[in-house]
Parts: sequence; C-alpha cells; structure tokens
Amino acid sequence: QAKASGRNTYSFFTDEMNTIMQRRFQLEEQMHGALERNEFEVYYQPQYTVLNQEIIGAEALLRWNNNSLGNITPDEFIPIAEHTGLIVPIGRYVIKQALTFLNQWQKQNALNYSISVNLSPRQFRDPGLVNFIKSTLKETHIAASCLNLEITEGVLMSGQSYIYQAISKLKKLGVKLAMDDFGTGYSSLNYLRQYPFDELKIDRSFIQGISENKPDCDLVKATIAMSHSLGLTVVAEGVETNEQLTLLQDMGCNVCQGYLLNRPLTIQQLLKLPK
Ligand code: C2E
Ligand code: MG
Ligand code: MG
Ligand code: MG
Repeated sequence: QAKASGRNTYSFFTDEMNTIMQRRFQLEEQMHGALERNEFEVYYQPQYTVLNQEIIGAEALLRWNNNSLGNITPDEFIPIAEHTGLIVPIGRYVIKQALTFLNQWQKQNALNYSISVNLSPRQFRDPGLVNFIKSTLKETHIAASCLNLEITEGVLMSGQSYIYQAISKLKKLGVKLAMDDFGTGYSSLNYLRQYPFDELKIDRSFIQGISENKPDCDLVKATIAMSHSLGLTVVAEGVETNEQLTLLQDMGCNVCQGYLLNRPLTIQQLLKLPK
C-alpha cells in the first residue's frame, strides 16, 4: 500500500516535471526567431512626480506575443532569454526601440522626458553593450542623461570586475543608474556604497503594505530618508491606491508609477496622454 502510493507520488511528480520541461522547451524553441517575426513589443509605463503627478518619463517593459503560445509574461520568458543568451539581441532591441520612441515623444511634447530600461545580468557579459548604448544614443539623438538603466542586485552579486567596468563606462557616458526592486533580495547597503546609483526603486511588495501595515510604512519611510541622504532619487513601484500616493507625498518620495496612474501602454496610447 505504502509502496503503491509512493509510486503514485513519484509518477505525479515526473508528470509535473514533464509539463514544466515541455513548456520550457516550447518557449525556447519559439523564442529563436521571435525577434525576426516581430513578436516582441515594448510597452511604456509612465512615471510621475509624486508631488503633482506630472509625467517625467516612462519605463520600457517588454511584451511577447507568440502565434502558438499566445501572450507570455516577462516573468516567464526573461529568465529563459537570460539562460539561452537570447536576452542579448532581445535586450538590444528594447534599447533601440525605447530610445527611438523617446526621441519621438520628446519632440512631440517638447519635453525632456527620460526612459528607463531594465538590464539583466547576462547583458553585461556582452562585450559590445557599452558601445551599443553609446552609438544608439547618438543615432537617436538622445542625451545620455535621459536614459536610466535599471538593474537588480542579481547583476551585482557575482562581483565580477567586468560588471563594475561596464557600469563605470556607462556612467562616464552620462547614463543614469537605478537599483530596481529594492527591499527584495539582500538589499545590501554595500551595493549602494560601491556603485554609482542615481535612483532607488522601492519594490511594489513594500508599497502595497504602506497604508495598512505599520512596519512596511516605517521601512519605506526609512528607505526614502536613507536614499535622500545618499543623494538618490526615490521611485515607488506599483502604486495602486490614493492612500498610498498620499502617504508617499507625506514621506517625500520623488517619483511613482503604478496602476493608479497608468498601466504599461503602447506607444500610440502614451503619445495620446495629455502633457
Ligand atoms: P520590474 O522592472 O520591476 O517592472 C515592474 C513590473 O511591475 C512590471 O511587470 C509592471 O507591469 C508591473 N507593475 C507596474 N505597476 C504595477 C501596479 O500598480 N500593480 C502591479 N500589480 N504591477 C505593476 P512586467 O511588465 O510583467 O515585468 C516584470 C519584470 O520583467 C520586470 O520587473 C523586469 O524585471 C522584467 N522585464 C520586463 N521587461 C524587461 C526587459 O525589457 N528587459 C529585461 N531584462 N527585463 C525586463
Ligand atoms: Mg524595472
Ligand atoms: Mg521593479
Ligand atoms: Mg521586478
């Protein structure tokens, strides 16, 4: 009896593993050629000043729509793109699209918006990354200071010197550097000391709790104070309610983004927003 149920458990487990492996295999297979088939689209989530909700820029967020698999979320496909190395050409595509769009957006509204682009660890192993960014900025006539590169601790954790060197070169170009998802992971203050960050983004999971949860509220307040004393701009991610926005105003948070203000939008939608 025990043996039978043991075997059942075992075969259930392999079935599940099988499904996961199959899905992964399909995603990998479809991801090759997805760029050429134009299946990726960059969406843009506007970023607002906390004080009076003026748009100051947007974060580029990648979307993938595949003929056979449908819409796949970045949380599912980015890790696979990382693993296969396909994030290198895909990431370059995002940078090119985002800067090309930024040029159009700045021109249309005659405003000096900025654009944030997420970079994952594998992209730093591309020895051409810095030059690609440099030449794309030039090609699209965008000032380096309007490009904000978002990285998570995962990029810095290996402590590899080529990462430090790439970041130094990017900073020399005048590009801005943001620490993304702060508060998740190790939140090592050492990274804030060692790397030339301009911006710190407080993770959505903390923002969610600020109106109900005293510890979350205190942590966010303290993070904002610490960031400001280090000279960092603070961005709140995932602002969904007016209560959260009001609290962030009281706390002196600089920038916010979230469903309360706007979801990630297509270029056409973003260009239609009032200035
Ligand atoms: P992230 O950089 O932390 O981006 C924020 C995520 O929160 C986005 O999810 C955004 O759509 C979502 N979000 C924004 N406001 C709200 C809100 O009010 N409520 C809720 N529930 N969610 C909100 P998304 O677009 O699914 O992206 C997930 C992650 O995938 C990103 O997290 C980023 O790490 C990664 N990613 C997305 N695009 C790219 C890319 O082009 N390159 C790389 N390397 N990573 C990317
Ligand atoms: Mg981000
Ligand atoms: Mg984030
Ligand atoms: Mg994230």
